Amino acid sequence: MKMQRQIIDLSISLEETKNEPQKVAIKRIDHKNGTNVLVKELEELGFFNDKIRFEAKDIPDNEFLANEMVELTTHCGTHLDAPYHFGSICEGKKARTIDNIPLDWCYNDGVLLDLTYKGACELITDLDIERALDNIQYTLKPYDIVLIKTGYDRFLGTNKYFAEHPGMSEEATSYICKFGVKIIGIDTFGFDLPFKTMVNEFSQTKEKKHFWPAHLYGRKKEYCHIERLVNLDSIPQPVGFKVACFPIKIANAGASWTRVVAII
Ligand SMILES: [Zn+2]
Repeated sequence: MKMQRQIIDLSISLEETKNEPQKVAIKRIDHKNGTNVLVKELEELGFFNDKIRFEAKDIPDNEFLANEMVELTTHCGTHLDAPYHFGSICEGKKARTIDNIPLDWCYNDGVLLDLTYKGACELITDLDIERALDNIQYTLKPYDIVLIKTGYDRFLGTNKYFAEHPGMSEEATSYICKFGVKIIGIDTFGFDLPFKTMVNEFSQTKEKKHFWPAHLYGRKKEYCHIERLVNLDSIPQPVGFKVACFPIKIANAGASWTRVVAII
């Protein structure tokens, strides 16, 4: 009997929408216009001469090959943050950039943790993680890819998505990493609490510890996290599936766009 394999897409489409606070610009050169653009560009480059020349109408069906020019940050859409994003030094050494993340880390057993009971701007604690693992009777092992399900991806495109999501604490992150886990994913806008919540807490206490505690844990301990996952609800089981999350290889960058999938 042939084994049935199911691939579940856990990634957001990169689009010019309000899903992103920073601008995503996609300049599209479509089939119809493309031939005119090409001919004009070749003209300007001096490519044409007496012997070599063609017009837009000479291209079959008068349709050029579509092309797109994309402008966006490395943190747009579903993406993987590398240690270099967290700080220049990690575990006392130069922090790894995204192009130096071992690919062995990016394809491993997935573990889905249900934290959907966490409310707006609420911190996910180490106790929450311990309980979530207890609920599924699972002990983490090195290189598992842990997916934190809060359900906040359902607010994508609203202010609630940016400003009210729950976030990982340093303690929750270190609890997971102590098992040898290298990649943790979450379905929120950011891995830590929303920016405004962190600034409010800092303003009240003047304690530096309120700024990105989970991100900055990555200066002490080498790990990566995936932000802006979607669709974790579609994974039918907490364990017994693989996760693939290979980031696009951008030289010396702190993060990169990643097509994350669960393979059942
Ligand atoms: Zn990021």
